[in-house]
Amino acid sequence: MNKFEQLGLNESLLKAILDLGFENPSEVQEKAIPLLLEKDTDMVALAQTGTGKTAAFGFPLIQKIDADNRNTQALVLSPTRELCLQITNELKNYSKYEKGINVVAVYGGASITEQAREIKRGAQIIVATPGRMQDMINRGLVNIKNIDYCVLDEADEMLNMGFYEDIVSILSDTPDEKSTWLFSATMPQEVARIAKQFMSEPVEITVGAKNSGSSTVSHEFYLVNARDRYEALKRLADANPDIFSVVFCRTKRDTQAIAEKLIEDGYSAAALHGDLSQAQRDGVMKSFRGRQIQMLVATDVAARGIDVDNVTHVVNYQLPDEIETYNHRSGRTGRAGKLGTSIVIVTKSELRKISSIERIIKQKFEEKSIPSGIEICEIQLLHLANKIKDTEVDHEIDNYLPAINNVLEDLSKEELIKKMVSVEFNRFIAYYKKNRDISVSGGERRERGDSEPREFSNNGAVRYFVNIGSRDNFDWMSLKDYLKETLDLGRDDIFKVDVKEGFSFFNTDPQHTDKVMDVLNNVQLEGRRINVEISKNDGGGRRDHNNRGGRRDSGRRDGNFAPRREGGFRSDRGSRDGGSREGGSRDGGFRGDRNSSSRREGGFRSSAPRNEGGSDRAPRRSENFGDSSRPRRSRRD
Ligand code: ADP
Ligand code: MG
Repeated sequence: MNKFEQLGLNESLLKAILDLGFENPSEVQEKAIPLLLEKDTDMVALAQTGTGKTAAFGFPLIQKIDADNRNTQALVLSPTRELCLQITNELKNYSKYEKGINVVAVYGGASITEQAREIKRGAQIIVATPGRMQDMINRGLVNIKNIDYCVLDEADEMLNMGFYEDIVSILSDTPDEKSTWLFSATMPQEVARIAKQFMSEPVEITVGAKNSGSSTVSHEFYLVNARDRYEALKRLADANPDIFSVVFCRTKRDTQAIAEKLIEDGYSAAALHGDLSQAQRDGVMKSFRGRQIQMLVATDVAARGIDVDNVTHVVNYQLPDEIETYNHRSGRTGRAGKLGTSIVIVTKSELRKISSIERIIKQKFEEKSIPSGIEICEIQLLHLANKIKDTEVDHEIDNYLPAINNVLEDLSKEELIKKMVSVEFNRFIAYYKKNRDISVSGGERRERGDSEPREFSNNGAVRYFVNIGSRDNFDWMSLKDYLKETLDLGRDDIFKVDVKEGFSFFNTDPQHTDKVMDVLNNVQLEGRRINVEISKNDGGGRRDHNNRGGRRDSGRRDGNFAPRREGGFRSDRGSRDGGSREGGSRDGGFRGDRNSSSRREGGFRSSAPRNEGGSDRAPRRSENFGDSSRPRRSRRD
């Protein structure tokens, strides 16, 4: 028996839930749904972002609506147009087996008369942004005088955005006897005030600690000089080939400028801010959902409430003016139980703010160094190797093989591998060879004397490469714990743990090297042999996986490769379409890949299995939506 059945949901909802692929209710759903179904009550529910609040109110709402009555019975207020559309979509999915329920979205930037017409046709549920709702009420286009339910979703964000007056005014247009359900991630005073003013004896539900950030998000900061901010961003992206991120800037201008620079440098990026037209914003969000954009550069306001699954990183390119805003930013990742990382690129003068944020989120930051060129090359190389391994062969290629074999027949397997990988790799090594180290030393928070340039030195520490990573369900904390236990070392003996998808790096002091090599190389993890190697010839590194010497030589030969676009597979793609579309992404350069249909060229970048299944991600319901007739698709397509 499915746990949702025990909550009292009816057949048609259970069927819809089955389609959605939800297996078990989340905590807030488990707590809220039975209460809301059982009686008409006001409710205040606090739960972090990504915990499934939409369904927590959506399921009971659908069940309680009288489908035979065409009058408007429920109003859901939500902060942004984005969210408004999302919720509408969700509610439509929930009610797909419930005949006769109409859900209409009401938001700014679209035709008000068209929305009024839809309502007139009979909308039992209206999902609205406060501004447009107020507008409709003023013009007499909507009647909410007889509603039974009012939901204030993401109440803290609505109030943050300055909708207090609108909300008060809208609520005063609704009957006193209705039930009000307030959902919020945090409980600032303004939210408490609304609850007090407009709700009577609300049932309170709290999931997790009040006002604390999501524990599925780990927080990191990187100390750099102000002039190196952008270079740091690029390296972080290069060091995370599968990055799917929201990059926050403080102003619209910076947002636009950084996005343009990234696009110029060949990354699949786009800007999202208030100066774009609604159509442009829609276009950007669609590309982001479709993963054609890996780096969405956004202002705080524009990115409020964005719910896109599987965002791997939130990057604070600049810290927000109000440090409370940090919580909203980092909440864009680590959703629905996934792990996410929130990164802050910080200069010395801003370091104080890190401690203030730690107090607010009640979590510690880990200080990390911008990866060196060598590290990035290693990561990219392995990423490429994995991509080659995982690539499925289309047998169309058989027709061309005789000719190809002709050209390559004199090469041994070893040579062939080296050359294949070098096609992309040379460019990277050529670029990074020339580039200086940009990690900054001496922040007061630095615990380790990490002041040497890290390019070729690691201060005497030994850096290791190990063949386990997030694919094996590790994040940096759990890997550190695992290594500590397996190696019987102390907490601080293992540091700079950096977890990638199929592999990870970590450091120890040299006296532990023998132990690390002996013990770890004889350990099995779920039947698989762990392989650890010394990653670089810094600080006592003796060995070197991937034959770096040879690689460097070939890099030198090709030293005339400019870092991006020219040469290699990449430059050929004609799709420069991005430039003319709204802040659209375009590719080329290292990044290439995943916009446009052309997956042909395998850049370092294109590899991410994200869209292709077979990734490390647990199969989630978004991946279950193979059937394009399902309405849910529209969220991603
Ligand atoms: P919140 O409003 O709390 O930030 P959402 O309602 O937007 O969270 O849900 C976050 C994500 O989790 C969405 O992709 C949603 O479809 C998914 N989700 C919600 N409930 C469940 C569940 N019971 N099982 C699996 N996924 C769920
Ligand atoms: Mg929500």
